[in-house]
Parts: sequence; C-alpha cells; structure tokens
Amino acid sequence: MMKVFIDTLGCQMNKYDSERMLGMLSHFGYIQTDNENEADLFIINTCAIRQLSVNKAYSRLGNWGRIKKENKLKEKSTKIIIAGCVAQLEGEALFKKFPYLDLIVGPQNIYELPHMLKMQQQKICLTDEKNKIEEKQYDIKREKGVSAWLSIMEGCNNFCSYCVVPYTRGRERSRDIESIIKEAKNILSKGYKEIILLGQNVDSYGKNLEEKPNFAMLLKELDKLEGNFRIRFTSSYPTDITDEVIETIKNSKKICECFHIPMQSGNDRILKAMNRRYNVEQYKEIVKKIRTNIKDVTITSDFIAGFPGETEEEFLDTIKAIDELELDYSNTAAYSPRPMTKAGKMTNLFIGEETKKRRLQILNDKVKIAHLKSNEKYIGKTMEILIDGIKEGIYQGRTRNNKIVHLTDNKNYKIGQFVNVKIERVSTWCCFAKSI
Ligand code: SF4
Repeated sequence: MMKVFIDTLGCQMNKYDSERMLGMLSHFGYIQTDNENEADLFIINTCAIRQLSVNKAYSRLGNWGRIKKENKLKEKSTKIIIAGCVAQLEGEALFKKFPYLDLIVGPQNIYELPHMLKMQQQKICLTDEKNKIEEKQYDIKREKGVSAWLSIMEGCNNFCSYCVVPYTRGRERSRDIESIIKEAKNILSKGYKEIILLGQNVDSYGKNLEEKPNFAMLLKELDKLEGNFRIRFTSSYPTDITDEVIETIKNSKKICECFHIPMQSGNDRILKAMNRRYNVEQYKEIVKKIRTNIKDVTITSDFIAGFPGETEEEFLDTIKAIDELELDYSNTAAYSPRPMTKAGKMTNLFIGEETKKRRLQILNDKVKIAHLKSNEKYIGKTMEILIDGIKEGIYQGRTRNNKIVHLTDNKNYKIGQFVNVKIERVSTWCCFAKSI
C-alpha cells in the first residue's frame, strides 16, 4: 500500500478536486495518511487567489522537499506533486523553483494523475486547457459528514479585472444534467443529507452545452429526486440570477433559501474598474427581488478592501452598502495583485498595505455587526436544522438558510437528523436553540 498525504488550500472547488484525486488514487492502491513522515506521495492542491495562499503552498513544498531528502531509503520513490491553480499559472517554471518536485498538474488535468504516476518519465507538467469536463468518474473519496460537494460547472468567462480564475480554471464548461443527476443519486445512496452544487458562476450553467439547459432546469431535476435531503449552491453572479431560479427555489422543499452573491464593492466606479457587469442599484434590485419572493432567505457576499485606486469615500460606499442591504454575512479580503490580471498591472494605483489593512479591519467589524443583526432576526422563531456535528457534548446543526445552531438541551440526536428547533438566543457567529 502506497500512502498519500494531501493538503488542500483555497475554495470548495479545490476541496472537491482533492476528493476526486483521492478517489482516483485509491482506485490505484493508494491510501490517505495524515502523517507526513510515512507518505510516499505528497500533493499540495493550491489556490492562486491571493499571494498569501501561494506563499503557503511554497512553504509546504519546501518542508516536503526536506522530508524527501532526509529519508534516504525512500528518496527516489517519494513523489511530490503540485496541483491546482498555482500549478496552472506557473507551469514548468515550478521545476526550477523546486527541483525536487516531480509532477505539476493543473485543475483541468487532474484525471491524468494516475496515468502520470505510472509513467517512467521523471518530471511531467500537464496544464492543458480543456473545453469540456472529463466525465471519466472514479469513486470520489468524499469527506465523512452530512454534506457532499458536487461540481456542476467549471471555469469562468467573466474576467473580473482582479481575478485569476479564468486563467487557471479556464472558460466555462458545464457537465450534462444526466451525469450530475447520476452523481447526486450516488451521493444520496451513501447517506449524505445535503448536496452542495459548485460552480464559479452557477447561473451560467448549461450555456456551453448543445441542448442549452439552464440552472433552473437543473435545480428542478435535482428537486425531483426522492428522499429527505437539502440542496445548496454557490456562487451566483448578481445579474445572472434569473426569475426562474428564484421561482424554483420559492417552490421547492429541498433547495435551501440561501444565495451567495459576491458584490465586491459598493461603489459604481470601482465596480466598473473591477469589470463587474452591474452597478450598486442593480445589485440592490436583485437582493430586493429575492427577499420579496423567498421568505427567510439568507444573502451573503464577498468584498475586497483596497482595490487599486479606491479612495476613502469609495471604500465607505462599501460600508454603507453592507448596512443598507442588510447582508447576512460577507467574506472579506484585502486586494492582492494577481499575475495576468488587468488590475494587477495598475501598479501606479496600488493602495499601501497599511491602508488596506485598516480598511479590511473596518470591513470585518461591519460584517460582524451585520451577522449578529441577521442572527437576531431569528430569536423566537421555529426552524428546521440538520444536525451535522457534536462538539464538547453539544450538538450542532444548520438551518435551511445556513445559520449555525447549537442545541442547548441535553437530548441525544443523530448526525444527519432533521430537528425542528426554537431559537432562544444568538451570538455573533451562532444561534442557541432547543428542539420542540
Ligand atoms: S466571476 Fe469574476 S471573480 Fe468570480 S471567478 Fe469569474 S472572474 Fe473570478
């Protein structure tokens, strides 16, 4: 038995890709280990969205290079692989930076991994752009739990000026409905209670397929599957969300009432510089439409602090927008210049690190307050939760609209059980409830 140690950085799509790689490798006799010292194969699945994440990946490679060298008995047979977005972006140059690296595999080529490992060739770099998703399915080695990720599309055509994703994950490619349904059935047959659909822009689902299915059609098909389970999805592009999708969610018992809709900035000039295809007013309209149609819906977002050229006033527009929109939660990040992107070349407009740090702090404080306010709306309400864990004797779960709930009664529950609860009190990050 060969042992593989895998480290995953970045988004859910990367985590899903790691599960796919582990599935493939187990098919070829590898088992996963969490002990670096006994690994025969190291994989770092990287994220290129921020320089911090790239640095983290490089430091991991440095450690593994040392481990490989120190273990003289296994030095030749131990392999180190870099996968994911940094692999795609940097390609063969990584062999120069890390001479002990054996394989480089981009996110669009991970299905070639077993084949690459079998080849005698010492060093291989595979970062081809694909125009179709490889459907050769090995069993995916999913994490244990109640939720399973399911990718419905990959890549992005939007070319937001700060984002490296179109250069790493390529253009939009969707899987056909049949293969998604087959995978969903497989997930449900294994006892998972929640399917999380993944895509850089789920609302673009189907555009590159011959029959032109759309996201609402896919949701309707998944909704028809038998069983008591939930469907979630992420992420949505504000102006691509259709009335049909909203209507489908409104009428479904399985699709959860949550949207993750990255806004990125609350200022029109910055949105334009970011190459986002909407303005603040249009974003507000879509939020209003969703809230008018779907009861107790949660809307979360992403924001960047310190985009090149962002003035203090423009930054404060973002703070104002979070307040006005009453967003339930937002991910935040300081702007990080990325290679190949338009914004990455605006060097004369870069904002100083101190200013970015300060703005990020203000943003984070605002998000915390917004999250607490959002939780407070549910005090006294009855909600259904799906139990997904137990920590220090306290069962935890999530509501349909993704609120984290801690159960304060001392009853015995099962992981994967649906329970109706009454929210009694809340904190910034979670709600406390008793079953009813
Ligand atoms: S929509 Fe914009 S931010 Fe999102 S992945 Fe595509 S290019 Fe990147």
